[in-house]
This record gives sequence, C-alpha cells and structure tokens, in this order.
Amino acid sequence: MTVLVLGGTSEARDLAVMLQEARVRFVSSLAGRVAQPRLPVGAVQIGGFGGVSGLRSYLMELRVTAVVDATHPFARGMSANALAACTADGVPLLRLERPGWSGVPGAERWHWVDGHDEAAALTATLGSRPFLTVGRQSLGRFVEPLADRAALVRVVDEPDIVLPDLWTVLRSRGPYGLESERALMAGVDVLVTKDSGGSHTWSKMQVADERDIPVVVVRRTAVTASEVVSDPASACAWVVARSPR
Ligand code: NAP
Repeated sequence: MTVLVLGGTSEARDLAVMLQEARVRFVSSLAGRVAQPRLPVGAVQIGGFGGVSGLRSYLMELRVTAVVDATHPFARGMSANALAACTADGVPLLRLERPGWSGVPGAERWHWVDGHDEAAALTATLGSRPFLTVGRQSLGRFVEPLADRAALVRVVDEPDIVLPDLWTVLRSRGPYGLESERALMAGVDVLVTKDSGGSHTWSKMQVADERDIPVVVVRRTAVTASEVVSDPASACAWVVARSPR
C-alpha cells in the first residue's frame, strides 16, 4: 500500500521530504518532460501513466491508498485524469496547489487573460521587446503574433519548434533573484507570464512593477478536486491522517 504524489513542482519535492520523515510509504511521479529534472527524495517513476485507464491500472497494481496531485497549476490535464481515476476507484485525492498571484497588491494593474492565444495577441499591442516566461510547451502560440518582435524567451529545455530569428532563447531554471532579473529585463518592455504563483519566479513581477512595464498574466482555470490545500505541510498532515497505523 502506498501513496502516489503527482509531482513536477517544488511543493511536491518538499512534500516528499516530509512524507519520508513521517515514514509514509510513497512514490512520486514525473511526466518526464524535462531532460534533467530535479528529483524528489524517495521512489520516483518517470513518464505518463497512459491516460485515465493507465492511471487506474497503476493505482490498482500498487494498491495506492491516496493520491496527492501536486502538479503545476497549469498541468490541468494530469489533474483532470487524477480526478477521474480516483473518483472511479474511490481513492482519496488531495490537490496541493500553491496560491496564485491574483490577490497580491498591484495585481489589478496587470492584464489578465484566459489563455495563451489571447496573451500573444495582447502582447503584440503592448510592446516590441517582450519577455516570454510561459514555458516551452506554450511558445508555439506566440510565434506568429510576435514573429517581428525581439522577444526574449526563457525556458528550461531547448524548444522543439522553429522560433523567429529575432527571438533570443535563454535556457535557465529558477529560482530567480531580484538583481539578476533587473539585469535581464533592462531592455524588456512587456512581461508575459502564467499565474504560476509562489516565490521562485516572483522577482520578474517586482522588476516589471519597478520599471512600470505592462504585465500580461494567463489566468489559471478552476481547480477541479474537492479537497485542496496550498502548502506541503497541510498535504503531509492529510496523508498521515489517512495512513494505516
Ligand atoms: P499536463 O498537460 O497536465 O499532462 C499531460 C500528460 O503528461 C498527462 O496526461 C500525463 O500523461 C503526463 N503527466 C503530467 N504530469 C505527470 C506527472 N506528474 N506524473 C506522470 N505523468 C504526468 O502536464 P504538463 O503541463 O505537460 O506538465 C507536465 C509536468 O511538468 C507536470 O508534472 C507538472 O507538474 C510539471 N510542470 C508543468 C508546468 C506547466 O506550466 N505546465 C510548469 C512546471 C512544471 P498520461 O496521460 O500518459 O498519464
């Protein structure tokens, strides 16, 4: 019997440490999108399950007693699969999701949009040197609207699509500090981001505010799980309460 942690976030790694300390038997899973992922402590399985049916088989084979969906706020496909599989098999499911940035002071000044296409179209009206921090998988949506702009693109892994000649790709991984973001964003005139939340990538928002440049933020879609916590310690307590003694 084991607990499954759907990971790929710093919160999932923090939870893994806590579960190990609490002597809970668990396995973390990663999608395998990143070439050299930061691995959590404990057992890890890498690669998808094969949709809802694959996940259901996995839950049954490992006799999973509870699932914590600690995937990124924008990994909604995995969250939907987890909800469907856990509901079908009566496995308790907890969503661990860090708070977004919509409630922070100044958020009302940003341009909130519902998706990447809207973000791309709006960005094209706001600046000529955009800083795109939307992740490799979403970049394709920005190519056509921003092909004639000198975009700065920050990604963890090399994009697998052809990008416009004017774009500059910077490969790096957070967390990012204020000073380095100030230097990087010196020539930027519009920032584009998802509402990832958390502190690891917050500095760019502060720099945009300091420089009074527009910020385009892609909104999160609603959480579908019924039980939700926002920090790893609460998730650990939820797991421990359901663990056999
Ligand atoms: P997604 O679109 O929600 O999921 C697509 C498919 O990838 C899922 O159906 C599943 O494949 C597989 N998958 C996703 N997360 C998985 C996990 N933790 N363990 C095993 N399989 C997983 O996900 P995504 O947006 O591509 O994100 C992939 C991973 O990167 C997630 O673990 C997420 O936490 C992390 N991440 C995402 C973002 C982002 O902005 N999207 C940012 C930082 C980190 P099967 O159907 O085959 O099971």
